[in-house]
Amino acid sequence: MANEVKSLNDECGVFGIWGTPDATRLTYDGLHALQHRGQEGAGIVSNDHNQLHRYRGLGLLAQVFEDPQTLEILNGNSAIGHIRYATAGSHSINNIQPFLFENISNHFAISHNGNLTNADTLKRELSAKGVQFQSDSDSELFGDLIEVSEMDNFTDKIKDAANRMRGGFAYILMATDAMYAVSDPNGLRPLVMGKRADGSVVICSETCALDQVRAEFIRDIQPGELIKVDGDGIKIGHYTTDTELTVCSMEYIYFARPDSVIHGVSVHEARKRMGARVAREHPVKADVVLGVPNSSLSAAIGYANESGIPYDMGMIKNQYVARTFIEPTQKKRERGVSMKLSVVKSVIEGKDIVLVDDSIVRGTTSRYIVQLLRDAGAKSIHVRIASPDLKFPCFYGIDIQKPSELIGANYSVDGIRDQIGADSLGYLSVDGLIDSIGLKCDNQYHGLCTAYFDGKYPTPLYDYEAMYKREAKRLHLYEGMD
Ligand code: AMP
Repeated sequence: MANEVKSLNDECGVFGIWGTPDATRLTYDGLHALQHRGQEGAGIVSNDHNQLHRYRGLGLLAQVFEDPQTLEILNGNSAIGHIRYATAGSHSINNIQPFLFENISNHFAISHNGNLTNADTLKRELSAKGVQFQSDSDSELFGDLIEVSEMDNFTDKIKDAANRMRGGFAYILMATDAMYAVSDPNGLRPLVMGKRADGSVVICSETCALDQVRAEFIRDIQPGELIKVDGDGIKIGHYTTDTELTVCSMEYIYFARPDSVIHGVSVHEARKRMGARVAREHPVKADVVLGVPNSSLSAAIGYANESGIPYDMGMIKNQYVARTFIEPTQKKRERGVSMKLSVVKSVIEGKDIVLVDDSIVRGTTSRYIVQLLRDAGAKSIHVRIASPDLKFPCFYGIDIQKPSELIGANYSVDGIRDQIGADSLGYLSVDGLIDSIGLKCDNQYHGLCTAYFDGKYPTPLYDYEAMYKREAKRLHLYEGMD
């Protein structure tokens, strides 16, 4: 649709390690554990304390680093890496991170997860100062801001740059003499720190990557923090204290791996509680509970435990099909889903079924699965979604910026039920989501960003404000209509 602002950065995975001879291999392993956060490209920058060395490419991590030589040329005892998830149309090697900045006084590399809401404004300002951009991505702007900062020392330049950015950002920065990490003032994107037995320090998107490299969890990086790791150890500072934790609820619902823990909450347990709560909020008589593999399995277990209806493996996911969600056309997305999912007929035939999924975005997956279950002889299909109705776009780094594509923005719950062809449809309430995640935080947002469901954005939207206002008007018009 016209006037829609579409960014090129979305949910991604970042990893950094300081102080071990095996830094590059461990970065590879850590990124491997974060592959679910993006499949479009991957890159690693190593640091031998004189120079930074980079290798990056398009595709899955294992494809990018298929040739073992590529890891070997990345020498040094520290490294950072990046796993990229981007929207269709931005497939260029130039957008693959880490980005390198090599001017006379500073050599550094950055990896970013999130989306800046003032990127257009910053780009205009930086262009006016003569900055030549190396990519189409908002992510590089942090590096550009550091380069143009007039502060004297490097740490102050980082603080200065961080204070200029708005939106969701979790950055790891590798300079030749230190590694840094920065979290946005709302901590929208997760970032954790750990330590290995050899004393090396790891900072990365999720605890599952800490586990992968046998690093012991130390702490979550808090909103507004600037962490510095160097030969003297770890220094925890702030670039701003004007902060309020509102971590992205979609991390708990869909993005993070179930074995990760975010701000003290196990993702798997949170999903089970979401499933249990939706069972209480939308009970139904049925023979069997199915989960849509793989992201909904925790919630489906929770639904089954709470309702007493047995869980069974009625659906199979072909593990060799990449993500369908970011395919550019509806036809390709539908084909992708059909290649990915199939049913176990003996579990389905003649049964009343509860189908649990973690979310409905465009409705492609649910529509296809409901049909698949009908074709396999299901008697009735009751769809239960372990998150609330997704009506509002995300501007902080999740690929749901187009309200026109959100089925929840355009139809009522009954309308969506008809669109996907289910016998009944029930969503988790927003309170149910907040209670199920159960973050210990007493601010007005309960520590969570739930804007996708209630439109309560925890920050101003800056460059997206005008577009959002137009869309909100339209969303309001469509509220409750089919
Ligand atoms: P859709 O088929 O468009 O309704 O998308 C919903 C499905 O995609 C659900 O089964 C989710 O597991 C998954 N999903 C939800 N949000 C995202 C996202 N931002 N990126 C990729 N997949 C997603």
